[in-house]
Amino acid sequence: MTLAWFVRTVRTGDSHLADAGWNGSDLIRPVCAPEVEFRPMNRRPLRVCFYDEQRCPLCLGHTAARPTPPTLLTAVSS
Ligand SMILES: [Zn+2]
Repeated sequence: MTLAWFVRTVRTGDSHLADAGWNGSDLIRPVCAPEVEFRPMNRRPLRVCFYDEQRCPLCLGHTAARPTPPTLLTAVSS
């Protein structure tokens, strides 16, 4: 699953990672808390979060555990 950022609120730490294959209408289930759904403020999945401080630290922890962080996918060609 490719992950992208979804903005729940503009507060610090309240943009979360979820499946980048979002259909644009479903509620988002963030990787840090899949049981807590929300409707994102952004209309398109964000591969890179605009502001570092808006990224959820729990979601960032999920990216650290993955072999290829989603923020680097656009820079890597195979
Ligand atoms: Zn999160």
